[in-house]
Amino acid sequence: MLNSVKGMMLTLASTFQGLKKPVTREYPKQPTPVQPRFMGFPALTWDNDVDEPFCTGCMVCIRNCPTQCMSASMMDNPLNEEGKSHRRKIVDYFEINLNRCILCGICVEVCNFDAIVMSHEHEMSTYERNGDRVDLPALLDIGKKYQRETAWIPPTVLAKAKKEAEDAARAAAAENAEPAAAAQEAD
Ligand code: SF4
Ligand code: SF4
Repeated sequence: MLNSVKGMMLTLASTFQGLKKPVTREYPKQPTPVQPRFMGFPALTWDNDVDEPFCTGCMVCIRNCPTQCMSASMMDNPLNEEGKSHRRKIVDYFEINLNRCILCGICVEVCNFDAIVMSHEHEMSTYERNGDRVDLPALLDIGKKYQRETAWIPPTVLAKAKKEAEDAARAAAAENAEPAAAAQEAD
């Protein structure tokens, strides 16, 4: 009897707590925020320093995509001819059929130019069979949104900064070790 009353009290307490602060959301009116490392659809990044895409259209990602859902082409970069960009080639056309993408992230892994990211975009269903064939401007828009929302830093810039910090730490350790060794020899 006592246990039944205890159980009833617990149920009532949980119900009142749930009414005060619901644990569910009214999706899609209230979208659930994704975790920082969430992998949504792939998108192309924008180089704000030069004001052009990072993508050169080199097609490495396309050759490695297991579902062959991407296509691209490159062109001579007019900004390179004007001396404003170090990229001799730039993407001319890019398309991903997101209906066929399995979100594996291989395209991001193999890209040498920081040009593609797994964005946080995941709500892109359509009623058309080919409704999720996304072109270059749309992929760049998704990428820019991701860069803005996550304060994205190109992975090669991060890796360079990490290596420089490690080299500096090693050099400082070596400098500290030299006087200690000299003092030991003097003893
Ligand atoms: S996203 Fe990267 S790997 Fe793919 S075409 Fe562009 S530069 Fe090349
Ligand atoms: S995430 Fe995987 S399947 Fe999707 S475009 Fe990239 S390589 Fe292809």
